Order: sequence, then structure tokens, then C-alpha cells
Amino acid sequence: MDAKFLNATVVTCDDQRRVLRNAGVAIQGDRIKAVGPSGEIDGLHTHLPTIDARGKAILPGIVNAHTHVLLLALRGTIEDMGAEAIYGYMTPISFAMTPTEREAISLLGCLEAIRSGTTTLVEPFRHVVNYAGAMAETGMRLYFSENCADALTLKIRSGVYEFDQSWGEQFLERQRELIARFHDTSDGRVMCQVAAHAPDNCSPWMLRQLNDLHEKHGLRRTVHMAQSRGEVAQVRRYADCTPAQYLERNGWLGPDVVGAHWTYCTHEDVELLAGHDVHMAHCPANSSRRGPHQAPVARIMDAGVNIALGTDNMTEDMFQAMTIGSVVHRGSRGGGIQPQPQALLDAATRNGAHSLGRLADFGSIEPGKKADLMLINLDHPSLRPAINVVSNIVHYGHPGVVDSVLVDGEFLMLGGQVVCLDERAVVENAQAAVESAWRRLHSQSPDVPLPASLR
Ligand SMILES: [Zn+2]
Repeated sequence: MDAKFLNATVVTCDDQRRVLRNAGVAIQGDRIKAVGPSGEIDGLHTHLPTIDARGKAILPGIVNAHTHVLLLALRGTIEDMGAEAIYGYMTPISFAMTPTEREAISLLGCLEAIRSGTTTLVEPFRHVVNYAGAMAETGMRLYFSENCADALTLKIRSGVYEFDQSWGEQFLERQRELIARFHDTSDGRVMCQVAAHAPDNCSPWMLRQLNDLHEKHGLRRTVHMAQSRGEVAQVRRYADCTPAQYLERNGWLGPDVVGAHWTYCTHEDVELLAGHDVHMAHCPANSSRRGPHQAPVARIMDAGVNIALGTDNMTEDMFQAMTIGSVVHRGSRGGGIQPQPQALLDAATRNGAHSLGRLADFGSIEPGKKADLMLINLDHPSLRPAINVVSNIVHYGHPGVVDSVLVDGEFLMLGGQVVCLDERAVVENAQAAVESAWRRLHSQSPDVPLPASLR
């Protein structure tokens, strides 16, 4: 698109973190051409059509650094149910869905993400090749990977850890297909990574296979790390070390690696990870559902680690991640007013881009960068009075304040309407898909209780 937004408040998230009032942003094609005072942008770019953005703030599009859109299937159920979530529910349902159900649920995830101002989703999960195409058609910026494991993940819920290379080979085959079909497609808007699911379910053999793919295709890597006490205990039993040490021994730490969670990292682990320039994908909202997130965030921040925000599972709402993130980050310092809101907004934008090695391309509003933007309605009652825009967005923002979303200079949402999806159809198809997936899960694993409303 070629156009210029005028009369806006522009929250640049640039190196100086400038917030420009009565400002404009010129876009040419998929890139930002210029940012500055509204009159100057208008005068220098007279040939560009004008979009009046009075009453709006323009921000960099949100980068969700870690999510699993298909786990929306569990929303409104397991948050309040007993048993361990990862192997008790998330793993079994990931295998119980059909390809059609995966596609339907993934589009609900995209719809919610776009409505929360998100332009980039990082999606490591299982059978991604089944639904990557549907997600790519939305126009979002996407990073896909198959969450590989060679432990028999469906047995772990019964306390059994058993490695099986033929099981692991199925994941690798799906990962290879994902790369062949989707890596660096749609003019580079869709990319692939490699993902080791977690240190407890990946043997050194699996980590080696994934490193081979990482090297062969030049892909960045991601892994869940120290996310549960069960994982920490299993790695101690299996390899007599911490998850972070296990990854280091197997050549899985480096500046291209994003580790999700770090919940039960020791102080020594934090030093080790920081020393290897590993990025953190922090998912404060989802991880706080059963009590405040336990990750030593203050220590991680002080070690200089790049912290990017994600939603992980059962929501794509990155405003919630910023709001609860602020509570968790301040709580990790025993309370107070640090970090300031801009740090949370950074974590949801430029730090996410940095974690993908793409800060030169997106994550802030600067000339030459991708036109991945969100417009926020500053007249929404929840953002008034408008005194400090960034503070309002981080503490009180929600998807209802998002007005428009652009990726590569194209509108995915415009004036409150998502234009890249049929919203009604997406919601109805996802509802039907989730209900049938739950019923199948229950028939395959009768010990997983069916929610009362589906009985
Ligand atoms: Zn996750």
C-alpha cells in the first residue's frame, strides 16, 4: 500500500523511544518511508493518499514471541481443572485433533491475535504443516516449527519416560515437510524455525538431528526450558544436571536460541544462558493462572537477557501479557515502579523482533522498516484521560482498543473490522472443531474428563 497516516500520536519504540504528537507515517509498498511531524510528512509526500489518523496512536505491530494457537481448544476448561497441564491435557489434545479441526482452530487464533494488534506470531507446535497454509493466507507474519520430541510424549502423563527414535522421526519428517513447503515463502513473510519441545522429552540424538536441520537450512532455534518441576526432576534423573546445562552440553545454547519460560532456572542457569546470549520468551499471563509466575525475572533482566513477551496457550491477547507482565516483573523486584511501561511495550514489540534476529526489519517505527503496524483508538474510554499513552496502553490496554492492523503495508484489520477473515465463520467453525476434538480426546483417553457442558 502507498499511503500516509497524518495527525496521529506515533509511539515509535525506536532507539530514543520517541512518542511524537500530531505526527505522520508515510508508507510505500511494504515499508515505512518516513516518520515525523504531520505537516512535514504531508508536505514531503504529497503524491501519497492521506489517511486521517486523528484520535489514533500508531504503534509497531505486536510480536507474540511464543504461542500455540491450537491450544485455544483448551480455553475455559483446564485453567480450573486439576492434573498437570502439559502432558495431562495439552499433549493428548494436540494429537487428538484432525487436520480440518487444526485449521479451523488456528484461524480463531489468528483472528484473536489480529484483534489484539499482533502482526507476528511464533508458532511451535505439533502437526503445524496441517494448518500453516491456512494461517499464512491471513497475511500475518509467521514463524513455524514442529515441536519435536523423541520421548513417547503420550506416556509421560503416566510418569513413564521412554525414548523411541521412530516416534521422534515422525516429528522430524513433519519438520522437514514444513521447511520444504513454507520456509521463506510469501516474500519472506512466512519463515520456519526448529523447535525442541523440551529438555525432558528430547534425547541428545533428537537435539543433534535438530541442530543438523538448524545448520543445513540456517534456521533459528527455540525450546521450552525449565517450565515445570517435572521437567527439572526428569532431566536431573536422566542427565544429572539442570535443563539449561543439558541444553549447553548438547550444543543447544546460542544467540539464535529462544528459550520459553525459564520458570525454574537456578541463578547459575541464568548466568549460563545470559553468557550464551539466549533470548527469553516470557509468557507471564498464562504462567500465572495457578499463581504468580515463578521465573526469577529480576535476575534475568539484570543479567542483560533480551526478554520478549508471548502468550503461550489459551489466549492470543498480548495486552494481557503486558499488563500481567508488568505485575510479575515488578513483583520480582518486591514491588515498586520498575520496570516502567515502555520496557513492557518493548518486550511486546522490538524485543520480539530481536529474538527472531529481525530488529533491523520490524519491531519499531523507523524509515526502511516493514510497515507492520497497529493503530489504537485513543478515544476509547479505557484509555482516557490521555496523559501518558504508553502507560495507558500497558496498564489498561485490551483488544477492544485496537482499530487497525497492517502487515507488509497491507490492512488485516481496518476501522475495527478484520478484513482478512470471515469472522463469523471462523468463530463458528472453531467452536464445532473444538467440541469434536474434546469428544475424541475423551473417547481416546477416558481418564481425561469431558467438560460438563459437552456431556
Ligand atoms: Zn509453549
